[in-house]
Amino acid sequence: MSPTAPQRLSRLTDTLRRTMRAERVVTTGPDYDAGRTIWNGAVSARPGVVVRCAGPADVQAAVRAARTHDVPLTVRAGGHDWAGRALSDGGLTIDLSGMRQVTVDPVAQIAEVSGGATAADVVAGAQLHGLTAATGSAGSVGMAGLTLGRGYGPLSGRFKLAVDNLLSADVVLADGSVVTTDHEREPELFWALRGAGGNFGVVTSMRVRLHRVPALLSGLLLFPWEQAQTVLTGLADLLDESPDELTVQYGVLPGPDGTPAVFLSPTWSGDDRAAGERALARLGTLGAPAVSQVGPTTTSDMLAGIDALFPFGRHVEIRTRSVPSLTPGVRTALGLAGDALTSPYSAVSVHSLHGAAARVPATDTAFAHRVPHLMTEIIALWDPDDTRAADHRAWADTVAQALDAEALPGGYANLLGPDETARIAHAYGPNTARLLEVKRRFDPDHVFQAIPLPPAS
Ligand SMILES: Cc1cc2nc3c(=O)[nH]c(=O)nc-3n(C[C@H](O)[C@H](O)[C@H](O)COP(=O)(O)OP(=O)(O)OC[C@H]3O[C@@H](n4cnc5c(N)ncnc54)[C@H](O)[C@@H]3O)c2cc1C
Repeated sequence: MSPTAPQRLSRLTDTLRRTMRAERVVTTGPDYDAGRTIWNGAVSARPGVVVRCAGPADVQAAVRAARTHDVPLTVRAGGHDWAGRALSDGGLTIDLSGMRQVTVDPVAQIAEVSGGATAADVVAGAQLHGLTAATGSAGSVGMAGLTLGRGYGPLSGRFKLAVDNLLSADVVLADGSVVTTDHEREPELFWALRGAGGNFGVVTSMRVRLHRVPALLSGLLLFPWEQAQTVLTGLADLLDESPDELTVQYGVLPGPDGTPAVFLSPTWSGDDRAAGERALARLGTLGAPAVSQVGPTTTSDMLAGIDALFPFGRHVEIRTRSVPSLTPGVRTALGLAGDALTSPYSAVSVHSLHGAAARVPATDTAFAHRVPHLMTEIIALWDPDDTRAADHRAWADTVAQALDAEALPGGYANLLGPDETARIAHAYGPNTARLLEVKRRFDPDHVFQAIPLPPAS
């Protein structure tokens, strides 16, 4: 008789406690709770065992034991996947959050980043040498999860996406072996990792290109809601002619008094500080901002500002649509988002892919959508004791539907929910067949279930 799931889990746990330091293999207690607590407080999955990995050998042991005992595994790093794919009920969670080392080679401008490091860890390490990294806009997000998915961020107009700054990675594969991959070594794996997330193995360490930005300017402009359409219309014209060095994240946020506001969060990453000051000042003239805090800053401070808006523990539902540009239809949808806002925390955030990030050929990475576009993130966010969860979810759906007429096929795989099958089918465009071939080669048994891949045709 084949063993039951609890028997397999129990044998797995015994095996792990024999093969690594027993205190790293936790099934209860504070370390277990830390491993299973992620950003979205609504995710209640309880893994059967959490392995608090200290290095690649622990990851290898965990992968091998999970396979031997036929227990599903998940990978947890920064814990920011809103859909909770870092955890599964009764499974084994490989917790990388103890592997956060960052070592910088300032001459080569390269950071060696452990698999559980956050974006804030990388930026803090780089800043010690007057350098910075292409990250997303929040600091507490895992650098590997962000990078392997795509990584839209405030420097992407000039320095491309996080994924384009990945130079090589050490990966524990489904059979427990380790491979170093880059453009020369296992190039197909390296290609697939860049956009298709953790579907091929566990990245225990990666090399990331760093950049020197002598005149970083950034901050926040908040415009009262009655100015929304004027500001967004002016912004659309301005973005049409803006240089690579200017990346503007914008959208709808509840203002300090709880009513909706239009926010612009511009970042100037050019070398010419005066040109940057002029560009940011122009944004301020699109309306009469109620808050205007822009000027010289550091990447660490930029990321910390976003972290403060999105703390761990609230309940979350995210929808995403990518659209070609800030058309009148998109502006109307953003207007609807503010008019119909149901929660004092919900937001719509628009990230742009333009400039250098849009000039990367579509076949260079598994992520194929390189035409300039806007990736909208519709974030319904509420307190755990809020009884209006259904209203907040409905708000996100309404805003997403309002964008449907303009939306490009597919969407940002890192943010697509597991049941969005129609969008998932288009998420990798013409790269789909090649991607699925790499999956067949490196993980034919689907040991790694990460952000969803399109179904095989
Ligand atoms: C507040 C917030 C802000 C965000 N901002 C941005 C942004 O500005 N730009 C952007 O592009 N995205 C952004 N995201 C999306 C984010 O990049 C993804 O959700 C990403 O997957 C989070 O990685 P994580 O390690 O924090 O999450 P986790 O939940 O720990 O991991 C999610 C999955 O990523 C994979 N993974 C993570 N680390 C590894 C690894 N070392 N090896 C193999 N697989 C791994 C695994 O499949 C894992 O299950 C944001 C998300 C949130 C919640």
